[in-house]
Amino acid sequence: MILKKYLYSPRNMFTGVISSSLTIVKSLIRRKYGFEKSITLNYPIEQYHYSDRLMGMPELVLNEKGKSLCTSCDLCVQICPTKCLELKGEVGKEPKLFSLSLSDCIFCGHCEVVCPDKAITMGNNHMLTGHKEEVLRLDFSEWKKLSSRQ
Ligand code: SF4
Ligand code: SF4
Repeated sequence: MILKKYLYSPRNMFTGVISSSLTIVKSLIRRKYGFEKSITLNYPIEQYHYSDRLMGMPELVLNEKGKSLCTSCDLCVQICPTKCLELKGEVGKEPKLFSLSLSDCIFCGHCEVVCPDKAITMGNNHMLTGHKEEVLRLDFSEWKKLSSRQ
């Protein structure tokens, strides 16, 4: 009760508002004139520079004609812990259907390790959002567009 009376007294409330306002103004001036570096970024105008070793979404490796190096062996589909890959095709040929569900992928890199043809690689694109599950399911052509050439 005594504490409540002390904290909510008009005098203490007034000094609290004044001192917190002064702290904000001081901090804004320091940042404006470069005396203090902000620990937050003005995202998305400013971007954080992650390490080049950051593992983002898996990408397909394409040849100079834009064709995937994948030979439909199915190993990546079998090893994927979240079952986010789907593939249909004849072994030895480029797949007819190859899709990746980005909402399920955990960027573990197992698919890259197991691929005998180096047809799949971990890229560094990790800023992937969508409002619907369907948007995050990439079919073969969409996945190729987001992928790298050899
Ligand atoms: S990175 Fe991991 S979870 Fe994602 S597709 Fe490859 S094996 Fe599956
Ligand atoms: S492991 Fe490589 S070659 Fe085999 S299906 Fe996956 S991406 Fe294609």
